[in-house]
Amino acid sequence: MRFPDHTCPRCLGAVPNASERGQYPGAISRTDDKTEICSECGVLEALEQWGGKENGGLLPQEEWRIWAWVGMTLSAKAMEKNES
Ligand SMILES: [Zn+2]
Repeated sequence: MRFPDHTCPRCLGAVPNASERGQYPGAISRTDDKTEICSECGVLEALEQWGGKENGGLLPQEEWRIWAWVGMTLSAKAMEKNES
């Protein structure tokens, strides 16, 4: 899947963060040491690793888009609520 520039593939948010999109590099994912993710996901991965389960406790990349989709669905629902 291709994303617009400076998009975090993990949460589909802006890299490094929403207010400074593209202004400086984000974090590098610990899952492969090359995928650029947003600062927030970098922190989350650090916490996942600190939790220390199998796979280092990291959320595998195959699951990123599932959670990104869940996040988008939830925020869309929240917006609907605000409109009504
Ligand atoms: Zn992210």
